Amino acid sequence: MAGLFVRARETAVLALSAALVYRTGMSERPAPRISFVSLGCPKALVDSERIVTRLRAEGYELSKTHAGADAVIVNTCGFLDSAKAESLEAIRVGLQENGKVIVTGCMGAEPAAIANAYPDVLAISGPQAYESVMEAVHSAVPPAHDPFLDLVPEQGVKLTPRHYAYLKISEGCNNTCSFCIIPKLRGRLVSRPAGEVLREAEKLVRAGVKELLVISQDTGAYGMDLRYAESQFADRQVRTKFIDLARELGNLGVWVRMHYIYPYPHIDDALELMADGKILPYLDIPFQHAAPNVLRAMKRPGDHETMLERIRGWRKAVPDLTVRSTFIVGFPGETEDDFRQLLDFLTEARIDRAGAFEYEAVGGAPANDLGLETVAPDIRKARWRRLMETQQKVSAKISREKIGRRVKAIVDEVGPTVSRGRTMADAPQIDGTTHIASHRRLRAGDIVDVKIESADAYDLRGTAV
Ligand code: SF4
Repeated sequence: MAGLFVRARETAVLALSAALVYRTGMSERPAPRISFVSLGCPKALVDSERIVTRLRAEGYELSKTHAGADAVIVNTCGFLDSAKAESLEAIRVGLQENGKVIVTGCMGAEPAAIANAYPDVLAISGPQAYESVMEAVHSAVPPAHDPFLDLVPEQGVKLTPRHYAYLKISEGCNNTCSFCIIPKLRGRLVSRPAGEVLREAEKLVRAGVKELLVISQDTGAYGMDLRYAESQFADRQVRTKFIDLARELGNLGVWVRMHYIYPYPHIDDALELMADGKILPYLDIPFQHAAPNVLRAMKRPGDHETMLERIRGWRKAVPDLTVRSTFIVGFPGETEDDFRQLLDFLTEARIDRAGAFEYEAVGGAPANDLGLETVAPDIRKARWRRLMETQQKVSAKISREKIGRRVKAIVDEVGPTVSRGRTMADAPQIDGTTHIASHRRLRAGDIVDVKIESADAYDLRGTAV
């Protein structure tokens, strides 16, 4: 018995040492330390508690002195002049003893007073601005991820396969499309600062993601709400702006696919990045319709001719461009003539991928109050079918032109002899599949050259070369 006990104990000790060695090897840097000054009333104290909770949850430690900290947070009070003076003094001391000071709280609601007195503070935010404070902390001193202690992986919990991930850059929308209630449900546009988005993207890439799918309600509007404010990413300032974000994402060395782009004129700027191979030559622009009077009633920009001209320009700049779009058929007031214009547009613009929806009068949508004649359900359905048939023909023609060509495809699902993947022209879930025969073993996330041998309207078949 005694021998057995010793052996068991030795095993336990050995296992513990191994774990300690391994852990020491993985913990590359000590936990960053934050010095926290909390001033003001109980409401401010609650704000401080929440910020400190977030800091601790993310692995930051609290420092008793400014000098021993990586950064200082001062939660200010702006209630009385004497409280403001006390807050300014706390900021001064933080700057003097540490140099990296993040200011938040009531006095931060009037940032000019602080910025004028202390232009060197890293960030200023108002009360309850937990996200802004954490963002400033991340910029000043990134959290040290501990793979043994953190409940979630560094890149967060993802519901997609390991090799692709959605990157949400903003929430809400400032447009007023008459069929849509998203602005009512989700509110106005709120963009995530570029630095925050880019750090998330970097973590995803480090975790093995090979394709980033940029999403939002309105990707082209990214940063408008923040007036394109700069934020820190690595050693530089990056503007919170569609084109700047696209450029930075394009430097991460993975596929970057842009979704949900409202057709603003400045979208054209992204074409250069596509031509240079920085981001995928893929534009997901929900045009919704092509007939000018329907678009007007939808409160959407553009008309058949202008849109065609733009698409021709895009294709001239990027011959391999894939245009994906969505359309609504049977919008109130849509005539047969309007609908035919939409069909002509699909063919003339050679829309590569299209999704179509029959119009539904969503409760609360402004379109319900336009007083336009509703399109009968059977006509709506018939138009939907006609649109899909037209689109299939367009799509099949485009697919057939790929036969004999070599295209790049990302592997999604490995099969014994044939794997499933997607070309640059295909987003996961919504576009076509490429069936890839291969003599060598492929892995999910591999990007391979495929010689296309056959095609139908949606899918391609070929061999990895
Ligand atoms: S359809 Fe899109 S762009 Fe228009 S209001 Fe809704 S979310 Fe915004």
